[in-house]
Amino acid sequence: MKNKVRHVLGISGGKDSAALAIYLFEKYPQLDIEYYTCDTGKELTETYQLIENLEAYLGKKIKRLVSAEESHEDPFDHFLKLYGGYLPSSVSRWCTRKLKLDPFEEWVGDDPVISYVGIRGDEDREGYISTKPNIQSIFPFRKNIWSEDVMTKLFTNSNIPKLIEWYKQTSSSKLDRILNLVQEPVTPKFLRATKVQALLDLDTEAFNEVVFQFLQTTAYPLSQIKQFPLIDNNDVLVRDDIFRILKDSGVGVPQYYEKISFEHNGQKGEYARSRSGCFFCFYQQKIEWIWLYEQHPELYKKAMEYEKDGYTWMQDESLADLIQPERMAGIKEDYIKKTNRLNDNKKSPYLVDILDEAEGEGCASCFI
Ligand code: SF4
Repeated sequence: MKNKVRHVLGISGGKDSAALAIYLFEKYPQLDIEYYTCDTGKELTETYQLIENLEAYLGKKIKRLVSAEESHEDPFDHFLKLYGGYLPSSVSRWCTRKLKLDPFEEWVGDDPVISYVGIRGDEDREGYISTKPNIQSIFPFRKNIWSEDVMTKLFTNSNIPKLIEWYKQTSSSKLDRILNLVQEPVTPKFLRATKVQALLDLDTEAFNEVVFQFLQTTAYPLSQIKQFPLIDNNDVLVRDDIFRILKDSGVGVPQYYEKISFEHNGQKGEYARSRSGCFFCFYQQKIEWIWLYEQHPELYKKAMEYEKDGYTWMQDESLADLIQPERMAGIKEDYIKKTNRLNDNKKSPYLVDILDEAEGEGCASCFI
């Protein structure tokens, strides 16, 4: 007998996955979701606080997944030793694989799994997510809740007759226009992405019904479910919605997003951290490292201790160099200039809005 399909949601400690848990809990209470978090042993205290708040709100435990559990060291330190002290970086991100993806994949095993991922409607990325065939990702905050691999398989020109048949089974009031679009083959001038977007814009619910019909003919986990409540999902959630959900629910916005004022040469600036993850994460921007140095000096010192044997967290400078008075002054000055240049509608209480170009980097496992 096949295993039951499991619904899972990873809580990274970031705002988007927390908001997704709240959103699904409120909108689709019929889904029996298992929540998990992969603990690297190097998270910020604020992350553990957020997890506690969420547990209280959801009335459910969030499963802690810890890799190398038998080790007497924190998971990160255990693997760092195995890698000979070689610090991870954006080009060699062994930490995400070892500390996030491996324990997750081990936990779900071969069970068919629907994994809900909090990538928002205002982001253009899929993130670094598991690609095991028994794990199917769903993106409830986007207009297109389906993953790229499903779209590629469904929207081939050879599937046009099937698409027509499935669309005719929907009750869409825009069927004529939809069928005209469906019949148009994908070509170098009419890209699949354009076709998909146009169909979604015409009738999202009918689009979802058709994708679901297609999935029933595949080996994807959703083929084992006869009804999927998210088919009616028309919502597109963007960054402001995320902060609203967190505040309205009482769970709250993780503390590290809150800006703190600082003064530099008589000028006022504000800094914070833009995302969750390990306190020494190499995806941090320079001003975030300074925030860590000034707000959590003990963590900065620990991060410095990892920089030995010629390995550094940043490619171009060490943490010891970064806190030289002249260097810090330069970083603060550049940062104040940058934030002052932003027009008023960009002024927001969260640094993440200022460092938003950095938000697409990284991975779905650590920062969403
Ligand atoms: S938060 Fe950064 S350092 Fe930590 S596991 Fe993720 S990518 Fe690696």
